[in-house]
Amino acid sequence: MSVVEQSQSTTKYAGVQNFIGGQFLGSDAESLDVTNPADGSVISRVPLSSAADLDRAVQSAKAAFPHWSSTPIKERVQVFFRYKALLEANIDELSALITDENGKIDSEARAEVLKSAELTEFACSLPQLTAGEVLEVSRGVECRVERYPLGVVASIAPFNFPNMVPHWTIPNAIALGNCMILKPSEQVPISAGRIAELLREAGLPDGVFNVVHGGQATVEAICDHPGIEAITFVGSTKVAKIVYRRGTSNLKRVLALGGAKNHIIVMPDAEPEMTSTNVVASMAGCAGQRCMAASVMMAVGKSDHIIEKMVEVMKGMTAGVHIGPVISKEAKQRIERYIAEAEEGGAKILVDGRKAVVKGREDGYYVGPTLIDFVRPEMRIAQEEIFGPVMVVVRARDVDEALDVQHRSPYGNAASVFTESGSVARHVMEHASAGMVGVNVGVPVPREPFGFGGWNESRFGVGDITGHSSIEFWTKSKKMTTKWNREAGVNWMS
Ligand code: NAD
Repeated sequence: MSVVEQSQSTTKYAGVQNFIGGQFLGSDAESLDVTNPADGSVISRVPLSSAADLDRAVQSAKAAFPHWSSTPIKERVQVFFRYKALLEANIDELSALITDENGKIDSEARAEVLKSAELTEFACSLPQLTAGEVLEVSRGVECRVERYPLGVVASIAPFNFPNMVPHWTIPNAIALGNCMILKPSEQVPISAGRIAELLREAGLPDGVFNVVHGGQATVEAICDHPGIEAITFVGSTKVAKIVYRRGTSNLKRVLALGGAKNHIIVMPDAEPEMTSTNVVASMAGCAGQRCMAASVMMAVGKSDHIIEKMVEVMKGMTAGVHIGPVISKEAKQRIERYIAEAEEGGAKILVDGRKAVVKGREDGYYVGPTLIDFVRPEMRIAQEEIFGPVMVVVRARDVDEALDVQHRSPYGNAASVFTESGSVARHVMEHASAGMVGVNVGVPVPREPFGFGGWNESRFGVGDITGHSSIEFWTKSKKMTTKWNREAGVNWMS
């Protein structure tokens, strides 16, 4: 049954199924409701797959590997040229799925699919980027390096980008010759089935891409399965640490991206119009549920005029129109608790999103944009990841005091500075303790060919998940030394 076919039941979508060996398969495992966060309605159910379900997918991927890995890369990427066109042709449907399961407003959901297409475009360039190296290292003696795929690999995804985050790994890993098992978030499992169908339509052989749904037990089975060579994980720091430890203790290659608390340093000379709109867009976009969302604004010196403009921008935003719901009732309650605690701790709420209600969708999990001033750096709301549309303002005397607060965060995903001064900008770029930094950019996501990855507790493992760096992660290199020149004789390295 297709993933988007109407079920006989009362839910909008048929029960989600695993995709193994090119087919959708049922599972005997217990299942969970999938909820539309915009109105709280149950739209599907998702199985919590067992180790046996996972093993079926690993065996199918293993069987597909010899043929796929020996297909020349120039042929492998032809699938992704066709697939990119399919993503673009199906953007209406794909973005509607994101909106239904994640709650994103239409423009954000579309942007997500467009980014997936851009990630696929990078994979199409891999033949150009992975040509080997060769050098005559001694008279008649040649060394060369060739790259080989790892085998069966797994990608574990979070709820906040049901379409894009899987594309951080699918096109590159598969174009480089691996066979993959995707484990989507159980909160947003519907998009993955449609991705699988489109890859099949693009000509990907059965078994090269598989989807196994589930939660903690499924992830643990991935970490433990001896047939899986490498794992990428994207999600919270708490689980990133678990997956990194468990996967590497089973001698797998693991790259685990975790949570974030991103600081934006706003200097008094920053251009007020651009700064206020960009900073608000960073904190409120995707309802603040982005690992790149601005969460702490370090207001340096006299920057009240910018804060006032931010208040104006936020007050012009309507829940349900400019900002979608957060993922669940628990998330809404958690975010609201953080706001209440900050208020009790003496911070000043300038814009309060706690009363956001959308007419006709009263059961939706909405939190409006929230701005809280005079927050002290040691308060919980300034330190912990909120993952909602909440921005705290911490006052700083100068840029070094602002950087000092940023350095004390255990995370290190992103940091930005808004200023018209080149030397201040350079100082922040150099000294912020984060893997991705921006100048006058609220969401400094590097675009391909540059890689995505933070520092500190925002990333465990070596390298970035996208761009050039991912080539290293998804392949192993073979170093070959040859001598065909009979006159070369014997030298010190022969
Ligand atoms: P999460 O850590 O709860 O879940 C991520 C994945 O882990 C899901 O597939 C889930 O099924 C699984 N999982 C959950 N609990 C588990 C456990 N105890 N053991 C094993 N597996 C488990 O994250 P989430 O709530 O889905 O996503 C939000 C988090 O992801 C935020 O912290 C956000 O910052 C982070 N994130 C980080 C990046 C990045 O690039 N650094 C990108 C997107 C999201």
